[in-house]
Amino acid sequence: MALLEINREECIGCEACVAACPFGALHMDAERKAVVDDKCTACGACIDVCPVGALSLPEVEAPAAGLDQYKGVWVWVEQLQGEAGSISWEMIGKGRELADQRQTTLTACVLGHHVEHIAQQAIAYGADRVILVDDPVLKHYRTEPYAAVLVDLIRQYKPEIFILGASTRGRDLAGAVATEIFTGLTADCTGLDIDPETGLLRQTRPAFGGNIMATIICPNHRPQMATVRHRVFEMPTPDETRRGEIIRVNPHLDEEAIASKVVDFIREEGQVNLADARIIVSGGRGVGGPEGFEPIRRLAEVLGGAVGASRAAVDAGWIPYAHQVGQTGRTVRPDLYIACGISGAIQHLAGMQTSRVIVAINKDPEAPIFKIANYGIVGDLFQVLPALTEEFRKRLRK
Ligand SMILES: Cc1cc2nc3c(=O)[nH]c(=O)nc-3n(C[C@H](O)[C@H](O)[C@H](O)COP(=O)(O)OP(=O)(O)OC[C@H]3O[C@@H](n4cnc5c(N)ncnc54)[C@H](O)[C@@H]3O)c2cc1C
Repeated sequence: MALLEINREECIGCEACVAACPFGALHMDAERKAVVDDKCTACGACIDVCPVGALSLPEVEAPAAGLDQYKGVWVWVEQLQGEAGSISWEMIGKGRELADQRQTTLTACVLGHHVEHIAQQAIAYGADRVILVDDPVLKHYRTEPYAAVLVDLIRQYKPEIFILGASTRGRDLAGAVATEIFTGLTADCTGLDIDPETGLLRQTRPAFGGNIMATIICPNHRPQMATVRHRVFEMPTPDETRRGEIIRVNPHLDEEAIASKVVDFIREEGQVNLADARIIVSGGRGVGGPEGFEPIRRLAEVLGGAVGASRAAVDAGWIPYAHQVGQTGRTVRPDLYIACGISGAIQHLAGMQTSRVIVAINKDPEAPIFKIANYGIVGDLFQVLPALTEEFRKRLRK
């Protein structure tokens, strides 16, 4: 629903607002009065040009009272069957930086069953303290009990900033918690830092199909919440000598009161783990069809890497979505990314441009991918890839 308010009594039908609207959200109705539709972004461009002041936006909400009681940076440490996800350590690394900038403490929230060892790991990775909630009901991730526990903890301890990895579970949990706490949440951030003047968390993420980077703040509610994708931040180095406080919380959860039940847990076979791969060989529309991924797979196999793909190749049905790299696929940060027959659209780059070394193979010397590649090979991938594979096979003795 559009936020813009139009006073029909005042409107003189001059159409100045229609001409000024950058989104085409205003038009005149049969009575020559301005009307607005859902394309309105509340940018305010029309308000300035209305000669009779007939247009307005609601007053900006005042900050909720008591925001200064909220202190500290929190990170949710997710785990699967007692093993912490590396995405959480990346969040701890960034959380440490943010806490240092705010001169405050970094708290890790560890939820699960038999997960005390993860609390120790969180301290080694940089947390000052850990809130450990160990309960059989929390053995498997479920939205209801996990969100309920975190909401209670947030209400009790009042953190200023709360960040979670943008994994499937992190996205689910962050939305559930933010809705219940009634605070803002920026999903899939690519950058987080502290505004030196206001102390607010600046949350940067791609917007408008990846064509601009938007920096979002949450000045009126707490905690300021954000999720960040895997591999966006560096993995910190653990320091086993670090010491911290562990606060054990008993949540009194009642299994009978929870609607969802875990019947069984079955690991998916042949899962592609792009996020953790050190080497990725990716194919795009240039591979020409599903069989075009064969030379890609052969090189990936010789190098011990994973196979990635552009959205064009996935949309064409040549390879499953799990392989897609980019804004609407996986974010990856391998040591070596070999892009084959991929032009280098901004949405693809959004998922791989922080790779340590990028090699591009493309027959078009003007392809944009060469602008960000460390090494570029201009040529037909069906000639270049077999030659490379053969050479690596010899050198790696495979
Ligand atoms: C909202 C949104 C989200 C998106 N999300 C993603 C995303 O997550 N990931 C993603 O990848 N894209 C995404 N896209 C799509 C993106 O804009 C591009 O359309 C897509 O990345 C193009 O894929 P491509 O480079 O494989 O194909 P093309 O752009 O068609 O490029 C093919 C390349 O192959 C080269 N080539 C052809 N034959 C050969 C050969 N024999 N040898 C060597 N080179 C050859 C050509 O010179 C060309 O450069 C998104 C788009 C939108 C609007």
